[in-house]
Amino acid sequence: MFFDRLQQSLLKAHRDGKVAAVFFVRVDRFKVINDTFGKNVGNSMLAEISNRFKQVLRQSDTLGRPGRDEFMVLLPEISKSEDASIVANKLIDALRTPFTVAGTLLFININIGISIFPDDTTDPEELLRCAYTAKIGSIEDGKNKFRYYSPAISQKAFKLLKMESELRLALEKNEFILHYQPVICAKKLSLSSMEALIRWKHPTQGLVNPSSFLGVAEQSEIISQIGSWVMEEVFSQKRAWINSGVASSRVAINLSARQFSSASLVDDISRMLETHRVDPQLFEFEVTESSLIHSMGDVELKFRKIREMGAKMALDDFGTGYSSLSYLRNLPFDRVKIDRSFVSNITLDQRDVAIASAIIELAHALGMKVTGEGVETKEQMEILCSINCDEIQGYLFSPPVDSDCMKTFLSSPQHPAWSKAVYL
Ligand code: C2E
Ligand code: MG
Ligand code: MG
Repeated sequence: MFFDRLQQSLLKAHRDGKVAAVFFVRVDRFKVINDTFGKNVGNSMLAEISNRFKQVLRQSDTLGRPGRDEFMVLLPEISKSEDASIVANKLIDALRTPFTVAGTLLFININIGISIFPDDTTDPEELLRCAYTAKIGSIEDGKNKFRYYSPAISQKAFKLLKMESELRLALEKNEFILHYQPVICAKKLSLSSMEALIRWKHPTQGLVNPSSFLGVAEQSEIISQIGSWVMEEVFSQKRAWINSGVASSRVAINLSARQFSSASLVDDISRMLETHRVDPQLFEFEVTESSLIHSMGDVELKFRKIREMGAKMALDDFGTGYSSLSYLRNLPFDRVKIDRSFVSNITLDQRDVAIASAIIELAHALGMKVTGEGVETKEQMEILCSINCDEIQGYLFSPPVDSDCMKTFLSSPQHPAWSKAVYL
């Protein structure tokens, strides 16, 4: 019916020399809500969203829903294309009041792509495609944003979609690998643990770092599959190391926001640990603040369950983002990782020393350990040691290395590479 009305309206707009607009609206993280609270809650939420939309739309506008977390809006007659932005803002504002779901307040965010008849195209199908493309562009701008279609977005959105399917293929063809970066005990200057970091062995581009593809992956469901692959790989690698008798130090695994939001996260972890017969105590899961901000459901419960299993939780990149102290107070972290941006200036700016030192003291007072990230020089290491940082990670000791290289490190935790770097 939506499409039929669209065709009729465009004919009329063409006759009357008028402008029409089509919106493609995407509800952010709807799948997570469905998974966390169940389908019934998801459905009533959709009904509530459309009610709120209807209140701000005119009788002559049309609202449709082409897919699970998507809506379409047709404004059949506007006087100029700029007017569409007024309506887009109204739709965004309509959802600003949080929704009450199963006794929990939930904030719903949307992204809107706008296409304009006749500026973008006069073909109804093409008009929908343009709005869809603009919606993908809008997601890049952040939450509760809208974007008008432009051919430039089209190219960008195309790249994004292409990347997404490449990532899917990469998973199928087993092109991801893990590197492991040693983490050093600040007191003993010996290997204390490691962090697993993903790389993509790209068929033509060589080894691609996560910053080039995780951002795109995070925008789609593919991140959950990549995340599961990472865990399986770490656990099976760990099993192989144990089998070959190399020392069993802790491995840190990064979790993305989407993974952390998944209702089945804890069950998935425990199932995989069992499959590979590895002890949960050998693992620590790193989350960033942004993943906590965007999490749905009971974050604290997930923390508790993961720690009850015996694994540990770390707050990654601390000092960036909002660095809300309430996270430290409310969530039982075992570790805080001070972000590289503080460490890199620590030798130049006394204020960064003060900040790092305060973070360490605070974390210790709360019973948490602290790791300094991105330590590249001996001076940075010395300062961190002098303010009681527990562990140190960075190029000074070693960049992330492949599993074979890591195995040689594991066989000699007092590896000459560490002492060479330290006493340079
Ligand atoms: P992160 O978890 O904070 O990891 C540390 C990053 O800093 C790594 O970048 C590491 O190579 C880099 N690094 C370590 N020491 C130094 C140093 O001394 N100097 C400098 N300049 N950089 C250093 P990488 O491997 O490119 O990873 C970037 C980010 O991607 C990670 O930051 C993490 O947030 C994310 N990431 C990596 N692997 C995974 C994964 O398997 N799953 C998820 N969800 N995220 C991952
Ligand atoms: Mg990390
Ligand atoms: Mg970090």
